[in-house]
Amino acid sequence: MKQTCILFSLTFGILLSSFTLSGDSGTVYICASKSSKAYHLKRDCFALKNCTHEIRGVSQCEAENAHGRTLCGHEK
Ligand SMILES: [Zn+2]
Repeated sequence: MKQTCILFSLTFGILLSSFTLSGDSGTVYICASKSSKAYHLKRDCFALKNCTHEIRGVSQCEAENAHGRTLCGHEK
């Protein structure tokens, strides 16, 4: 499953973001900063307010596997 996820994310991740209209549970938010290690469930998480880079919406699968992020400590 993980390998499928990675392939899927790398190939279709960006397209998928555009096509996913249902707002299902998969979308999370990441700060594009290289020092950022977390992903966020809420776009308005206060930790994201400190982000001085682009904030991107990606699938949770992509955040974990393609970007190596873990869930924000404030949202566990
Ligand atoms: Zn957060």
